[in-house]
Amino acid sequence: MWSKLWKLKVPSKVAHIFLRALTECLPTMTQLYSWYVPVQLTCPVCSTTEETIFHALVSTPFATQCWQRIVGGNPFGSTDNFKDWFSNILATFSSEKCGEVFMFCWAIWRARDNDRDGASRWARPHVNIIKVSVDASMFSKNNAYGIGLVARDSDGEVIHAQTWRIWGTLLVFVP
Ligand SMILES: [Zn+2]
Repeated sequence: MWSKLWKLKVPSKVAHIFLRALTECLPTMTQLYSWYVPVQLTCPVCSTTEETIFHALVSTPFATQCWQRIVGGNPFGSTDNFKDWFSNILATFSSEKCGEVFMFCWAIWRARDNDRDGASRWARPHVNIIKVSVDASMFSKNNAYGIGLVARDSDGEVIHAQTWRIWGTLLVFVP
């Protein structure tokens, strides 16, 4: 598993979140609790279950819809362990697709953090309007940047989801 993983070209920030997920060090509520942080275990995104790493990245309603778009749903319904789930992804899909899955885990985790901050809590658009959320991050160490895009309708259904990794640098001018 690891040898194939290392071959995927992804920015180190993305890989970092990923490695934390695989080694059970991603700070979900369940993880925080196991580190004796006094938190509620309930998922901050959907409030219906305890937030494990698998739940945060794979089975929240939002993540489920993203995976529906990317890999045609959750093809490995029997597992609720993130490492097993991703091993299956690696074994089943091309490196290209796995890289995309990598990027999406990062985007889903970022969306969760943004939701929690309340800074950009998502609100449904009006009927017949599609709302597109875009998030971007610089990976300056890797000379790359990443962009995540999700389009949702008034029912909150994901209509389109995509991520891009772009190699190169952006100059950002702050007036
Ligand atoms: Zn949830």
